Amino acid sequence: MPLNSTSKSSPPPQVLMERCIRRPWEAYVEPFRMAPGVWYIAGNDWVACYLLETTDGLILIDTAMHENLYLLLQNIYKIGRTPFEIKKVLISHAHIDHMGAARALKELLPAAQFYLGERDLEFLHERPELIAGSPSVTWGLFEPDALYADDKPIVLGDFTVKTVSSPGHTPGCTSFFFDVTEKSGRVLTCGMHGGVGLNTLTREYFEEMRQPSSLRDEFIEGLKKLDLLEVDICLPSHTNQVGILPLRSQYSEEFNPFVDPSIWHELMNERLERTYALIAAGQ
Ligand SMILES: [Zn+2]
Repeated sequence: MPLNSTSKSSPPPQVLMERCIRRPWEAYVEPFRMAPGVWYIAGNDWVACYLLETTDGLILIDTAMHENLYLLLQNIYKIGRTPFEIKKVLISHAHIDHMGAARALKELLPAAQFYLGERDLEFLHERPELIAGSPSVTWGLFEPDALYADDKPIVLGDFTVKTVSSPGHTPGCTSFFFDVTEKSGRVLTCGMHGGVGLNTLTREYFEEMRQPSSLRDEFIEGLKKLDLLEVDICLPSHTNQVGILPLRSQYSEEFNPFVDPSIWHELMNERLERTYALIAAGQ
């Protein structure tokens, strides 16, 4: 499974978000399985959201944008479940494209537990301008019910999600890892880096948004640390980071086209190289 080379030359995030929310029919993606009990559920082809079917309800990883929430909810119904089964919502980081729909979801699911990385609380409480990409996009502030603690995995039913604080793209950015078991008994580790976008790691961004440039050092250290992990299925946080869409029709109980332990390392190293290139270019 090749990394999608278009991820290097894709349009700016703002352009892609506008396409998703203004012309959702062009971006819509049917739900598809990536592993047993693991669904790509986002309802768009840009921001990935995953639904985990545990033996005790559902876990949602990231919410995408408020404007696209109806498509995510529709996709949950399409796989024969209901949004009201969601017990935990794990947000990778406090950017509008990953948590834009969190407020609306919280209104819908008051009993669900919403999680966020502690260092992103500052975005919610003091720097909301760091969350929003555009004043024309609707979103709402919310308060998480719990903060991630890397020594306390999130457990629901038969799923145990291990979190790894991954500062850089945002200070509270968090990565997720969990195992699933195939019918054959083969155990597969799924991993999602919480945010590998370099758009918030340039000198210009740090200066303009008054963010510490040490975030770039943390990002580099984090990539090196995460590269040591073995991940069988690399779940991208933005769909085009890994070429998953062309492979979705090949998935069956007998064959999983997303299993490729090299992809995780390729993604970590590609981002490392691009970060070093930014530094070398003085950006
Ligand atoms: Zn982001």
